[in-house]
Amino acid sequence: MPMFRSILLAVLLAVMAWPAQALELSGSFTQGGLVVGRAEAGAKVLLDGRPVRVGDAGEFVIGFGREAKPSATLEVRYAGGRRETRRLDIGQRRYDIQRIDGLPPAQVTPPPEVMPRIHDEGARIAAARATDTPQAWFLSGWIWPADGPISGVYGSQRILNGEPRQPHYGLDIAGPTGTPVVASTDGKVLMAEKDLYFTGGTVIVDHGFGVTGVYSHLHSVDVAPGQMLRQGDRLGTIGATGRVSGPHLDWRLNWFDQRLDPALLLPPRQGDQQKINQ
Ligand SMILES: [Zn+2]
Repeated sequence: MPMFRSILLAVLLAVMAWPAQALELSGSFTQGGLVVGRAEAGAKVLLDGRPVRVGDAGEFVIGFGREAKPSATLEVRYAGGRRETRRLDIGQRRYDIQRIDGLPPAQVTPPPEVMPRIHDEGARIAAARATDTPQAWFLSGWIWPADGPISGVYGSQRILNGEPRQPHYGLDIAGPTGTPVVASTDGKVLMAEKDLYFTGGTVIVDHGFGVTGVYSHLHSVDVAPGQMLRQGDRLGTIGATGRVSGPHLDWRLNWFDQRLDPALLLPPRQGDQQKINQ
C-alpha cells in the first residue's frame, strides 16, 4: 500500500516540523503598544536584533515607542537550534497638537541656574528606566491608577507659549488634590521623590523586564525606594506639583528607552475612547 505509506510519511513529517510549543504574542501591535510574549524555556529572543530578556517559563515583553517604524522583526532562537522569525506590523498613529498658552516663561524655558538640577534629575530618571529586573511583575495585569477623567493623552505634540516642546508621553488623569494613586500592576519602588523640577512628587516603579511606571505631580509620596507594591497598593495622592496647570496624575509607562501608552493596557471606560489618539 504505497499510497497509504506516503500519506503516513507526510503526516509524520508535518508533526515533526510542528513547533513543540508555538510562539504566543498578545498586546497592542501599534506605536506605544506593549506586547507580552511566550516562547520556550531557554529560548533567546531578539527584537530588531536587540536581545530581549526571557524568563524561566519563556515569557518576555517588548514595546514600541511613539515613532516606532511600520514593521519590526522578532527572532526566536530555541534551545534545540530551531529558529523562528516573525515580521510584526506596527500600527502607525496620528497624534494631535496641543497648545498651552499663558504659562509662566520660566516653566517653558527653565532659567539657566536650574539646568544642573534638571540634568541631574534627568540622569537619575534615565538610570531608573534602564533597570532590568528578572521578575515579570507586569504579568499581573493593569488597573486604573486613579479615579478621574482623562485630561491628557499619549503622543500629543505640545506647543507651550508658541514654542514646540517634547511630545506628551503620559496619560493624564484629573482629580482633586488628595485623590489616592495606586500601583497599576505589581512592582518595586525604584525612586520616590517629593520635588523633581518638571514632575514634582514622583514615584517610579519597576514592573520587571525593563517595564517601568512613572507616577508624577503627586501631592503626597507614600512609599520609599525598595518597597514592594502589589497591584492596587496606594503609592501617593494626586497633586499639582512640578510643571502643571492643575491637579492631575501623569502616568507614564516605559520599556527601557521606549515610551509606551498606558491607555492601551486598560479597558476603556465609557466616554474615554474618543479622547485617545488612534
Ligand atoms: Zn501629563
